Amino acid sequence: MHISTQAVQTGLEWDTRTGSVAVPIYQTATFRHPGLGRSTGYDYSRSGNPTRQTLEDGIARLDGGARGFAYASGMAAIANLLLLFKSGDHLIVTEDLYGGTCRLFDKIFSQYGLSFTYVDTSDSSAVQAALTPGTKAIFVETLTNPLLKFADLTALSSLCRERSLLLIADNTFLTPYLLRPLDLGADITIYSATKYLSGHNDTVAGLVTVKTPELADRVYFHQNAVGAVLGPQDSWLTIRGIKTLGVRLDRQQENALKIARWLKCHPLVRKVFYPGLEEHPDHERMKRDARGFGAMIAFEVLNHALVEQVLLKTKLISFAESLGGVESLITFPEVQTHADIPPELRARLGINNVLLRLSVGIEDADDLIEDLRFALEA
Ligand SMILES: *Cc1c(COP(=O)(O)O)cnc(C)c1O
Repeated sequence: MHISTQAVQTGLEWDTRTGSVAVPIYQTATFRHPGLGRSTGYDYSRSGNPTRQTLEDGIARLDGGARGFAYASGMAAIANLLLLFKSGDHLIVTEDLYGGTCRLFDKIFSQYGLSFTYVDTSDSSAVQAALTPGTKAIFVETLTNPLLKFADLTALSSLCRERSLLLIADNTFLTPYLLRPLDLGADITIYSATKYLSGHNDTVAGLVTVKTPELADRVYFHQNAVGAVLGPQDSWLTIRGIKTLGVRLDRQQENALKIARWLKCHPLVRKVFYPGLEEHPDHERMKRDARGFGAMIAFEVLNHALVEQVLLKTKLISFAESLGGVESLITFPEVQTHADIPPELRARLGINNVLLRLSVGIEDADDLIEDLRFALEA
């Protein structure tokens, strides 16, 4: 069955008693026991809640994982996963990383004895060189933020298998609709479901899927022990978002390609990063491994003055952080999303003072292009 069909089916058959098509919101903290030492399968909503579980089962199915987990945010999901490691463990991390993840690693978990080495994970010799006896995992973003490099999970997973390392993939930018990391050898997939999965810029949520029941038990232990779980209302909103994932992404990708081609020809635009463009270095590999190129575009304008002009003069496209929703958003990574990345790393990556990041929504592409033209040429 196609992912888009599976996505629509999420939760459809949960309520066999009433036949409710939408899964109910089980807004309860606790559950009555039917007898001494007996349980309905639910005891307390931190440990398990039917609405949350519908979402967790749904994402596990979409990703082909043994089990799914829902958290209060993408960051809560990543923080929970880091509890799989102990003091002295080392992780190799892709250098082109979401700023919040970088902050969590360097400012919090490094205080508890975990260490992180940032490398260009597309360069297997750089990854090899970073390995230490304490290395336990490789952490990548499948499509990176903001410069849209596509990870080679197949190559990384064979290296991980040789050395019994965990391969953890943040698949926020692609979702299972475009890529299923577990199929390509990842052990754990992470989502900020705030983005494409919920899809309407109205919910903050995080999801995790794992490949094996053994990993599922370990992750569940931490989810329940720490308790950064997603509430029933937000679980329900995320389920509702997931149902339209396919149609939203189809439209968003179609729009993104048109906009990227238009930007490329504009005299005030210096450079466009979109993997759907043939000249993008990962275009061919992505065509082979993924079902699409996503709907995030980064582009450089000719000078810094144009940055502020574009951010403030677009009318349809909102100047706001976040991404992946039906409304188009634009942001300035150097100051907004990537401020916590050390300046020298930012410079090496190419996150500079003329780079803008556009999350393309489901509006009409011509209207979005007109909006950008007006802002650029104002
Ligand atoms: C937004 C984002 C996160 C963090 O998720 P939140 O839901 O904001 O906590 C992690 N990784 C990537 C790639 C993101 O875009």
